[in-house]
Amino acid sequence: MNERELLESGLAALALDFSPQSVDNLLRFSELLLEKNKVMNLTAVTDPREVVTRHFLDCAAVIPYMDLRQGRTVLDVGTGAGFPGLPLAVLCPQCEFVLLDAQRKRVDFLKKVIAALGLTNCTAVHARAEDFAGEHRASFDAAVSRAVAELRVLCELALPMVKTGGAFFAMKAADCQDEVDAAANARAVLGAPRAEVFRYAVPVDGVARAVVRLEKTADCPPQYPRRFKKIETQPL
Ligand code: SAM
Repeated sequence: MNERELLESGLAALALDFSPQSVDNLLRFSELLLEKNKVMNLTAVTDPREVVTRHFLDCAAVIPYMDLRQGRTVLDVGTGAGFPGLPLAVLCPQCEFVLLDAQRKRVDFLKKVIAALGLTNCTAVHARAEDFAGEHRASFDAAVSRAVAELRVLCELALPMVKTGGAFFAMKAADCQDEVDAAANARAVLGAPRAEVFRYAVPVDGVARAVVRLEKTADCPPQYPRRFKKIETQPL
């Protein structure tokens, strides 16, 4: 199977409603990613088929667990080269996405990708999450994050920006239960005490993954998030 066939079969296995245009856009993103990756560290993946399986399908596999109805706003915390936010924005044109990262070069790359694909539901922002939270408290219906930090740290970066009634989705390895347990205090303090862990296999290569869904049931106390050094050295 070529990349297009792999991608289409994986998206079909997830029962996602995708258009030919969204497949074209993802394959164009893959080209731009691999081209830029020659001169800038964006991803460890160099094979276009692995971009499809390890990035696009891995990210798309979280969609069935999220509430992505028309007009929902979603923040990707620590998006890096655009994961999971960019594939989600391509596959879910009905929602608005903000892709946030602390590294300017990655954000500059993403701005060029967004322009090249003509995406109108997606913005890339250069900022640290703990700083961005100052003006974006309780502003998003959902937050999502992959491969950024351990869960108790991630909770403090993401949950303050999620609306009460919304949810944070942390993409993790399948064996994440210890991490979820270690975040019990952070979850309780930050307004999302209950953790639901959904385990699944990514289509095509069958990798076992999990998404931790944290529904925000109470407001975050105003002192959070703290400065990053404190978050990291004295996690909740
Ligand atoms: N989420 C992407 C993925 O799954 O491929 C990127 C993962 S990369 C290992 C971690 C990214 O998180 C980096 O691009 C880094 O700049 C970003 N990051 C780490 N801490 C952050 C913070 N406090 N605010 C914003 N971005 C952060």
